[in-house]
Amino acid sequence: MSKQKIAILGAGPSGLAQLRAFEAARRAGVENLPEIVCYEKQNDIGGMWNYTWRTGQDKNGEPVHGSMYRYLWSNGPKECLEFSDYSFDEHFGRAIPSYPPRAVLKDYIMGRIDKQAILKYIRFECPVRWVEYDESREKFSVTVMNHKTGEQETDEFDYVVVATGHFSTPNMPYFDGVEQFPGRVLHAHDFRDALEFEGKNLLLVGASYSAEDIASQCYKYGAKSVTISYRSNALGFEWPEGVEEKPLLTHLEGDVGHFIDGTTRQFDAIIMCTGYLFNFPFLPDNLRLKTHNCLYPDNLYKGMFFEGHDRLIYLGMQDQYFTFNMFDAQAWYARDVILNRIQLPEVAQRRADIDGWLQRYQQTDSCNDAIDFQAGYIRELVNATDYPDFPVEKQAALLKEWLLDKQENIMAFREKTYRSTITGTLATELPAAWLDIKDDTFEGFMSLEFVEQKASA
Ligand code: FAD
Ligand code: NAP
Ligand code: MG
Repeated sequence: MSKQKIAILGAGPSGLAQLRAFEAARRAGVENLPEIVCYEKQNDIGGMWNYTWRTGQDKNGEPVHGSMYRYLWSNGPKECLEFSDYSFDEHFGRAIPSYPPRAVLKDYIMGRIDKQAILKYIRFECPVRWVEYDESREKFSVTVMNHKTGEQETDEFDYVVVATGHFSTPNMPYFDGVEQFPGRVLHAHDFRDALEFEGKNLLLVGASYSAEDIASQCYKYGAKSVTISYRSNALGFEWPEGVEEKPLLTHLEGDVGHFIDGTTRQFDAIIMCTGYLFNFPFLPDNLRLKTHNCLYPDNLYKGMFFEGHDRLIYLGMQDQYFTFNMFDAQAWYARDVILNRIQLPEVAQRRADIDGWLQRYQQTDSCNDAIDFQAGYIRELVNATDYPDFPVEKQAALLKEWLLDKQENIMAFREKTYRSTITGTLATELPAAWLDIKDDTFEGFMSLEFVEQKASA
C-alpha cells in the first residue's frame, strides 16, 4: 500500500498540534507514518499569535488573519493552558505572573515547537484556494497559491485537516445611519492600538470577550468614555467611572447613537465587537462546516470528524475556554484515527454520539457548566490516546475562579495569581497594578521585578 498523505491547512496552534502529534509518534518509533504537507497563508507559524500591524490585506493581497492587538494580555490564567509535557517553569526558568502579555505567551507556546522537526512540513505563503474530493479516485485535491513562486499548485491527499481558525472574518452588523457617522467605524478584527482612542468617546457594540477587553484597553490607555452596547446580556461588571453598558444600539443620527432604552449619546468612534464568521472560502458546500461560535458545533463527531466525510477533520472549531491543550487532545485523537489505532464507529453511532453531546450542551445553563462541559469533552479525548494526561478538571476549577476574579474587579483580575496544576508552582505577582503597566513587550514584561508570594496557608 502506498503511503497515506495528509494535508494540514493552517500552522496556528491547532495545525501545529497536529504536526506535533505525528512527530511524537515518529519519535516513539511508529513506522509507516503518513506523508504530511502543511499549507500556511502567513510567512510564520503561530496563527493568531503573530501580531501584525496590518489590517485589510497582507503583502500578498490575502485577507489579514490576525485579530490580536498591541497591549493584548492573556485573558485567562496561563495555568489553564499549560502543557503537561512542557511547563512554564521549564520554559521561563522561574515563576512568572498568571496573565502575561501576548508576546510572552507566544514565546512559551512556540518554545515547545521543535522547529527543526516541524518546519520542514510547512509551506509558508501558500493560502489554500480550493479543496475537492474525487469519489472515484478516493482522493482530495488541494489547490494552493504559492506566493513564493507566483504559481498555483495542486496536490492529492487521503486526509484533509482544516485548522484555519475561526476568529478572523468579521461579523459586521449594520445600523441605520452608520454610513453617515462622521468618525471611524471598525471591527474588533482591525483594532490594533488603544492609544488611537485616547480622549475619545467610544462606542463598542457587542458584549463578549472582545468588547470586555477592548473596553478595558481603551480605558487603560486614556479613552474619555467607553459605552458597551449589548444585544442579549450585559457583561455586568462593575466598570470604573467612564465605562458604562447600554442595551442595543438602534440607529445613529450624525455622531449620536440611539439605544433601545431611549437614551442617546455622542461618539467619536465605533468598534463592532460583534464576533466572527466561520469562513472557509476554499471548501465546496458539501465539505464545509456551517456553524456559529459555540462549544459543540453540530456535524462533527468528537468535535472533529465531519459528518459528511470521515476523512475530513476540523480542529479548533469550538468556542474556547480551553485552548492549546484542547487542540493537542484533538490532534492526538485525529492522529490515532488516521493511524487506524482508533476506529470510527458507523455513521448512525457517530450521529448518536454527536446528539449525546449536543443534549449535554443544551443542559448547560451557566458559565461554570460550560467550563465543565468543555473539560469533559477534553477528558474523553485525552483518555483515548497516549497524549500525556493532564489535570483538566483542576484547570476547570481555575477557570471558575477566574470568572469570580473578573466579577470582583474587571480592571484588576490580571493581578491575581494561580498555582500551576502541572508543577505546583505559585505564580509571582505583578509589581504594580495592571492598569499602570503599559509596556507589553517581551523584554519590558520580563524585566519587571515580579513579587514572590509567601506560601498560602
Ligand atoms: P489560528 O490561531 O487562527 O490559526 C489559523 C492559521 O490558519 C493561521 O496561521 C492562518 O494564517 C492560517 N490560514 C487561514 N486561512 C488559510 C488558508 N486559506 N490557507 C492556509 N492557511 C490559512 N486564546 C488563549 O488561549 N488566550 C488568549 O489570551 C487569547 N486571546 C485571543 C485574542 C483574540 C483577539 C482572538 C481573536 C483570539 C484569542 N485567543 C486566545 C484564541 C485563539 O483563537 C487561540 O489561542 C488560537 O490561536 C487558535 O488556534 P488555531 O490554530 O485554531 O487558529
Ligand atoms: P464572541 O465571543 O463570538 O461574541 C460576539 C458578541 O457579539 C456577542 O456578545 C454577541 O451578542 C455580539 N453580537 C453579534 N452580532 C451582533 C449584533 N448584530 N448586534 C449586537 N451584538 C452582536 O466574539 P469575541 O468577543 O470577538 O471573542 C472571540 C474570541 O476572541 C474569544 O475566544 C476570546 O477569548 C478571544 N479574545 C481574547 C482576548 C484577550 O484578551 N486575550 C480579547 C478579545 C478576544 P449575542 O450574545 O447577543 O449573540
Ligand atoms: Mg490517555
